Amino acid sequence: MKIAVAKGDGIGPEIMDAVLSIFNANKVPLEYEVVDMGKWVFDKGFSNGMTPEAQQTIEDLGILFKGPMETPKGKGVKSVNVTARKTWNTYANKRVFQTLHGVDTVFSKAGIPIDVTIVRENIEDTYGGIEHMLTHDVALSRRFITRPGSLQVIRYAFEMAKKKGARRITCGHKANIMKITDGLFLECFYEVAKEYPELKADDVIVDDLCMKLVTRPDLFDVVVLTNLQGDIVSDLCAGLVGGLGFAPSANIGDHICIFEAVHGTAPDIAGKNIANPTALLLSGLSMLRHLGFMENAATIENALLYTLESGVHTGDFGDKSIASVNTTEFANAIIGNFGKLPAHGAKPTLPNKPITPTHFKLEENPLIMSKEAANEAIVGVDFFVEFAGQPNDVADKCLNVIGDKFKLVTISNRGTQVWPKGSVFTNVVNQYRCRVESVNDAPIDQSAVAELYLKFQAEFKVCSLELLNMWDGKKAYSLAQGQ
Ligand code: NAD
Repeated sequence: MKIAVAKGDGIGPEIMDAVLSIFNANKVPLEYEVVDMGKWVFDKGFSNGMTPEAQQTIEDLGILFKGPMETPKGKGVKSVNVTARKTWNTYANKRVFQTLHGVDTVFSKAGIPIDVTIVRENIEDTYGGIEHMLTHDVALSRRFITRPGSLQVIRYAFEMAKKKGARRITCGHKANIMKITDGLFLECFYEVAKEYPELKADDVIVDDLCMKLVTRPDLFDVVVLTNLQGDIVSDLCAGLVGGLGFAPSANIGDHICIFEAVHGTAPDIAGKNIANPTALLLSGLSMLRHLGFMENAATIENALLYTLESGVHTGDFGDKSIASVNTTEFANAIIGNFGKLPAHGAKPTLPNKPITPTHFKLEENPLIMSKEAANEAIVGVDFFVEFAGQPNDVADKCLNVIGDKFKLVTISNRGTQVWPKGSVFTNVVNQYRCRVESVNDAPIDQSAVAELYLKFQAEFKVCSLELLNMWDGKKAYSLAQGQ
């Protein structure tokens, strides 16, 4: 079986060579096709950080094992890593955080074992990077949470939890504040939960989740979150088990999967052969298990655990009274320990059962849509307008133009209602949201919205607008704070 390998930037080539030397010494039956991808490829003029040949190889082979890649600095430049995850629709980011004996943490010293898997949605949320300055003072980021995207990652999390024999699966969210977006994610979570009655499914608000994770991490098993919250919570979990040097990650999609460490290119130590290859090795082991190479994965993981227990360490962790080894020496120590079992957490050796790679060719972009039919009507518009003045003046201007088919329902500034009721203690900025609804929620068409737009633009600079939809009699939009 052949897979694509991108060694990456900074410490990437050093740790990738170390990991592949371990795989080769263990006779892992894989062939590696090294592809051109990373900051250096970006510098050659390939704006997505990979050559067309690299993209073709990865799409043909379906598996990418990658080292960390530097994100070029500068406005408008996208991260190679995020582009890769999004382009190939690797919708679930799985990160496993486990107590490793030999890696001392406050929890290992207190005898509290940790085995938490974070599943982070990998495509959506604010990571779309769709951001605009609406006025010189106001920046707006669009946060996309979709039903099909949420169902994909949540279903993956439940399926993985079931296979793992998990005790509990938890949804982390902020649906108390982001009622529509996180509300949708949470709704999808409990929808999927019904298909898995054997798993205890519950939810925790993300700030409370952080507090609980740092006090009782042993109470959690699998946690699924939206993209940004998952990003933050997974780094918190990396800290619980000893830092970024021990945090592996798998980006799972239906066609293409990417395996990589959570950490970056560590420019401060690059080129010195002192980086810790453990996170990339753990990511590689997760890849081997994904591909069915169970026996190789168990032998290598047991050797890694034995090596850690014996006190061998790179400079970033471990007992400072024992001299640290370099990246190559660390890899060689693991190779020397093949066949040995650690005293704690030895992995059972299951036989290899390699999957048959599916060679697929997609003719067009898969359109993912949920089946639910909705009785849909537009009943109003939110106009986001630039105006440096008082709320009552905004209201007067709106009331001048809306006519008798529409009513002005609320005006808010930074999400807080300032008209018809509000407080003079609310600071305002030069951008208001004016909500106009049809009288008696009568359905309106887009030409009525366009007419309204023409009237508004005579009074204000309209920065953007959003339609107010009513689905099956339910408002598909949030109320302003204080409305
Ligand atoms: P970083 O993870 O590279 O480094 C943070 C700190 O951890 C540094 O002190 C570094 O020396 C240390 N460290 C990281 N990995 C280590 C290892 N394996 N062994 C020993 N020490 C290690 O984070 P950063 O400095 O914020 O980012 C550097 C670059 O990496 C940036 O360009 C960033 O965009 C990129 N990055 C890439 C990925 C990825 O490829 N998936 C992830 C994160 C950051």
